[in-house]
Amino acid sequence: MSELAVSREVDRSKMTISDEVAIQIIEMNKWYGTFHVLRDINLTVNRGERIVIAGPSGSGKSTLIRCINRLEEHQAGKIIIDGTELTSDLKNIDKIRSEVGMVFQHFNLFPHLTILENCTLAPIWVRKVPKKEAEETAMHFLEKVKIPEQALKYPGQLSGGQQQRVAIARSLCMRPRIMLFDEPTSALDPEMIKEVLDTMIELAEEGMTMLCVTHEMGFARQVANRVIFMDQGQIVEQNEPEEFFNNPKSDRTKLFLSQIL
Ligand code: ADP
Ligand code: MG
Repeated sequence: MSELAVSREVDRSKMTISDEVAIQIIEMNKWYGTFHVLRDINLTVNRGERIVIAGPSGSGKSTLIRCINRLEEHQAGKIIIDGTELTSDLKNIDKIRSEVGMVFQHFNLFPHLTILENCTLAPIWVRKVPKKEAEETAMHFLEKVKIPEQALKYPGQLSGGQQQRVAIARSLCMRPRIMLFDEPTSALDPEMIKEVLDTMIELAEEGMTMLCVTHEMGFARQVANRVIFMDQGQIVEQNEPEEFFNNPKSDRTKLFLSQIL
């Protein structure tokens, strides 16, 4: 398991957490058919929190974050994002999706569109932003992820790390207030992991509320304010990184940490 090799100090002083609640999940349960995949999930995330979700494969991490922007539907309990409850009401779903960005393990860029077009598609068609303004915003975020010179290329012409940074820029173009990451570096070669983590660190330093499923425990130590450990569809344990890594409480957490660290 790779520790994060940072090229600079991570500045946690800017990562302030406000009193405002960004995400509230209350007694949430989800089934896939008869399979009870998420059990009694309770989670409150304040604005500015950087949460790392860890746990073995199949424990429900992806399902949990996919429920937060309704890529999956929950069957019981509540999910409330910025005061709006996720129900089958399409208006609420649209509102929440426009506030919550998501980055996947496989970058999910449109292969037949240029990098710039990938970044402007949703703002133009969903947000009705004028094309020129959408392009300016896209260039701003492509500069932020340090690949403005790739704007007119196609995804297949970029490295994995560059593609993932485009995926992050594309998400940011929708001006989300919350970012969800599902193993954003798991498909990348080691030398590209760092450039994606650096981008995520910068977002954290700018105060973005982030939920990250990741096996990068170096990132968890340095950037997260809270680590959540899931197993068999439940939140088994959560704590600040120091305590989580140095003093795990449950046997399942201890076993997990002994396997990955
Ligand atoms: P993780 O991200 O922690 O590896 P997932 O949320 O992907 O876990 O999966 C949790 C469990 O739900 C696994 O047992 C997985 O096989 C199952 N699962 C995931 N997606 C589906 C689906 N669409 N239909 C049925 N079962 C699923
Ligand atoms: Mg997963």
